[in-house]
Amino acid sequence: MTGTALPVVEIGCADVPVLKERGQREVFCGLTGIVWLHRKMQDAFFLVVGSRTCAHLIQSAAGVMIFAEPRFATAILGDRDLAGLADCNEELDRVVRQLLGRRPDISTLFLVGSCPSEVIKLDLSRAAQRLSTEYRGRVRILSYSGSGIETTFTQGEDACLRALVPEMPAASTASPALLVAGTLADVVEDQFSRLFQELGIGPVQFFPPRRAAQLPSVGPGTQVLLAQPFLNETARALQARGATLLEAPYPLGVEGTTAWLRAAATAFHVAPERFASAIAGPAQRARSALARYRGDLEGKRVFFFPDSQLEIPLARFLARECGVSLLEVGTPYLDRTLVAAELPLLPRTTLSEGQDVEKQLDRCVAQRPDLTVCGLGLANPLEARGLRTKWSIELVFSPIQGFDQAADLAELFARPMQRAARLRV
Ligand code: SF4
Repeated sequence: MTGTALPVVEIGCADVPVLKERGQREVFCGLTGIVWLHRKMQDAFFLVVGSRTCAHLIQSAAGVMIFAEPRFATAILGDRDLAGLADCNEELDRVVRQLLGRRPDISTLFLVGSCPSEVIKLDLSRAAQRLSTEYRGRVRILSYSGSGIETTFTQGEDACLRALVPEMPAASTASPALLVAGTLADVVEDQFSRLFQELGIGPVQFFPPRRAAQLPSVGPGTQVLLAQPFLNETARALQARGATLLEAPYPLGVEGTTAWLRAAATAFHVAPERFASAIAGPAQRARSALARYRGDLEGKRVFFFPDSQLEIPLARFLARECGVSLLEVGTPYLDRTLVAAELPLLPRTTLSEGQDVEKQLDRCVAQRPDLTVCGLGLANPLEARGLRTKWSIELVFSPIQGFDQAADLAELFARPMQRAARLRV
């Protein structure tokens, strides 16, 4: 990674001992990523090769699309498949044939592995290669695993993007180009595009793109700015293609967004005066909007369970811009390279990696936080014990990055506090 000046430098959590736990975990699986990935890449289709449980998960998380043909489905492995009595590859080829025959709009098909397909060792990467040969020139067929065995739900996006990296064309020149990696809502992407334009930074490409058939190029001139903190494998694959990773906090809150944009500005030699004038207006508006929620959040004690891998940047935003006090910040995995610019900004707290859910629940309940950020599975039991919760998955589904979303992000945390205050009246 290349370094860049941060607005404020502290020791923070850079050297804090990490509490590592390797017990039972309560998280969604990587199939969940299909929910936002299929909305982003409008010409891609996700075919989960899994069980009825997988089908239920995707169906209920992504909802039913009434006005459009769905862009995800589950090829259900039945008892005969699981018992090894049926030829799963033949079945899969038949399903893919049917699907592609009916849907000429699909340019990229992802075969998505699940726990059942991993347990019976169905080799989806070989299936994807075989089917790619058959459909060469018509549709790109790739595979990745969204299995919940030893993974957390945002790793689904990492695995999907990682599968796309070898397909990205080589950049034709070594001239600098910016690649923003990590799914962003279209509205957020448009805002950032305008800001990069004002800063004179370009060319800028976003990964994943809105059309999977139009992948950005990558090469030695590519400067990668991560928009999401969970893209470990993707970042390494891009580096292996010659790209340079820019070290930056994530664009959450005014401070995070400023430092994120500054990392790009530094890499592209933007004059400090130009940078200051381009961000002054949006940053000031964001600060004013954010101030509305500070009263609800200031001094509140917050506990993060490990779930989305967004915990560290979210905690940094809440502590530094909203005045909350952090009791514990849990993360499923701590990749120090990807949070190198975040840790020094995070006020000292208990930092935990992995999970032993019963022990962590005991720590949380004993401290009685004002707000607990956790997965859906833990929220109801904690609410039943009188604790207020915020579903971490909501933070992944909502547009929260950038100046214009800073207040919305604070509001997501303030709402449970406001609701509790109303109930007390
Ligand atoms: S991939 Fe595994 S964890 Fe996810 S829904 Fe399917 S069976 Fe459940």
